[in-house]
Amino acid sequence: MMRVPGQWRWRTSTGAAGSLAFGVLIGLFFGPASLAAPMQADPAVEIHDRIADDAPDAKRVALTLDACSGKFDDDLIEFLIRNHIPATLFATKKWLDKNPYGVSVIKSHLDLFEVEDHGENHIPAVIGAGRKVYGIPGEPDIIHLRREVLGGAHAIEQTIGVPPHWYRAATAEYDSQATQEIEKLGYKIAGFSINADAGATLKQAAIEDRLKHVKGGDVIIAHMNKPAGDSAEGLSVGLIQLLKKGYVFVRLDQVDLKVIPGTGR
Ligand SMILES: [Zn+2]
Repeated sequence: MMRVPGQWRWRTSTGAAGSLAFGVLIGLFFGPASLAAPMQADPAVEIHDRIADDAPDAKRVALTLDACSGKFDDDLIEFLIRNHIPATLFATKKWLDKNPYGVSVIKSHLDLFEVEDHGENHIPAVIGAGRKVYGIPGEPDIIHLRREVLGGAHAIEQTIGVPPHWYRAATAEYDSQATQEIEKLGYKIAGFSINADAGATLKQAAIEDRLKHVKGGDVIIAHMNKPAGDSAEGLSVGLIQLLKKGYVFVRLDQVDLKVIPGTGR
C-alpha cells in the first residue's frame, strides 16, 4: 500500500520517538486493513434510492413490501386494498410457491399492486465462496447469481402473468460485480430510503415513528411475509397519517429512482 512509505515521512517533522509511535499506530490501523484489502475489494453495499426528478415539494412516496419467504400478511394487504394504497411487492419464487392464497389476492388487485423480482431463493447478491450478509450465504459465482435473478423473474411471469423490471436482492445489499450483472440482465435495482420495519422486527410504535420521518420522494421498505410481527399494525397507522398529510403513493412502474449521493453505488 502507498500509505506505508507515506507514514514514515512524518519522522522528519515529529521527531524519532514520536514518529515511531505514530508509525506503529498507523501500522496497527492500516496494516491489517492493507492485508485484508484484496479480500474486501468488492464490499457489499446497501443501495439507497429516492424517486428521481421530483420537485422538493412533490409529495410522492413509493411503498415497497418484500415477500422474502414465510407467510402472507393478510392484514397488511387487506389494509392497503381497503385504503386504495398502491404498492410494489418484491416476491421470491419461494414465497410465491408457498402462498397460493396470497398470490390469488394480489392477482385480483393488480390495479393496486405490481410484483417485482426478489430472487428465486432469497440469496444475497454478493459473489464469492464463503461470503455472507447478515449470516445468509451469498452466491458462489456469477452463474448462481443469474439463476437467482432469472429464476425469480420467471416465477413472477408464470404466476402473476406480468414480467418484472425491478430487482431487489435478499438483504438489499450488493457487491459491484452483482450490481453490474443484474443491470446487464436488464433489471433496475430498487434501493430504498426509509427502512420502516427492519425486516419485520420492529414494534408498532417504532414503525409509526419511522414513517413520521417520510418526506416527498422517499422509497419505503417494509415486509409482507411475517404476519406475526407488527408490520401491519405499524404501517396501518403510519400510512394513514401520510395520506392525511397529503402524500400520494406511487409504484415503481410509474417512476424512476436515483441513488442518494454518498450512498450505494
Ligand atoms: Zn427479503
